[in-house]
Amino acid sequence: MRPLADTIWVNGEMTPWAEAKIHVLSHALHYGTSVFEGIRVYETPDGPRGFRLTDHVRRLFDSARMYHFPLPYTEAELVAACKTVVRENGFRSAYIRPIAFLGACGMGVTPQPENMNVDIAIAAFPWGAYLGDDALKNGVDACVSSWSRIAPNTVPSGAKAGGNYLSSYLIGREARVGGFGEGIALGTDGRLSEGAGENLFVVKDGRILTPSAASSILMGITRDSVIRLARAQGIEVVEQTLPREALYVADEVFMTGTAAEITPVRSIDGIATRANGPGSVTQAINAAFRGLFDGTTPDRFGWLESIEAV
Ligand code: PMP
Repeated sequence: MRPLADTIWVNGEMTPWAEAKIHVLSHALHYGTSVFEGIRVYETPDGPRGFRLTDHVRRLFDSARMYHFPLPYTEAELVAACKTVVRENGFRSAYIRPIAFLGACGMGVTPQPENMNVDIAIAAFPWGAYLGDDALKNGVDACVSSWSRIAPNTVPSGAKAGGNYLSSYLIGREARVGGFGEGIALGTDGRLSEGAGENLFVVKDGRILTPSAASSILMGITRDSVIRLARAQGIEVVEQTLPREALYVADEVFMTGTAAEITPVRSIDGIATRANGPGSVTQAINAAFRGLFDGTTPDRFGWLESIEAV
């Protein structure tokens, strides 16, 4: 892989890209035992700002709690480390990827408590539109996957854990093999859940509907931001269980994620939404979101965090 940055933070040390390596017998490689985050830094008129950096690091700790991973740092230390990585690589905008994983724990699936060795790495690198520039502008053609999202009593979908992304991988892969831009999963109850790496929103009759926490989703930070920005504009947002066919009769559909940002969905399973691209509600929400970074939307929730050392 060509270097995307000069240095990566590894267990507290800024490490040259080429030296940031792990052992092939690392527990996480065999059993998917990692928790991670994705955070964007945007260039704003006031300089680079991490979007909800502290909230993302909090979610990393929540994910670690669900898996009993002892993280040998405080939240404040990892927030500071994320900032250091961006600064030291000289990025004005970036995607930050912190990951905490079980490393040298022995070969068994369940390490002895004294062998729960958690390694942490934090990389930052440039990352453009996750589903492509055209998708961001004109909308993505999505399909409903034949793969269900992970069931609630298997592994927690609310953790952003490495192993969960086997599900995302299959959903995303199947979609692309079928000629679609992204896959949308149903829960094992047959209700709408989320995209392979994005939360899902349906606009119908001026209201925004989105699968609730009970729909086997990751509680996205972009999802929460969109809900709050929409309500601030007086748009009603309802979190509920939604049937698959809500997609086919939608005025607009869009997906959200740190990497995907706010990506309109143009069609689902070959059925165009009424807007057939980014509709007026999607555009209004996207303008409010983008405005945070060019200064046209006031940062009333305190979401923009300086990346300077404190
Ligand atoms: N669901 C899944 C499965 C994801 O991978 C992501 C991306 N992290 C999201 C939802 C959106 O989460 P966020 O807005 O916090 O990036």
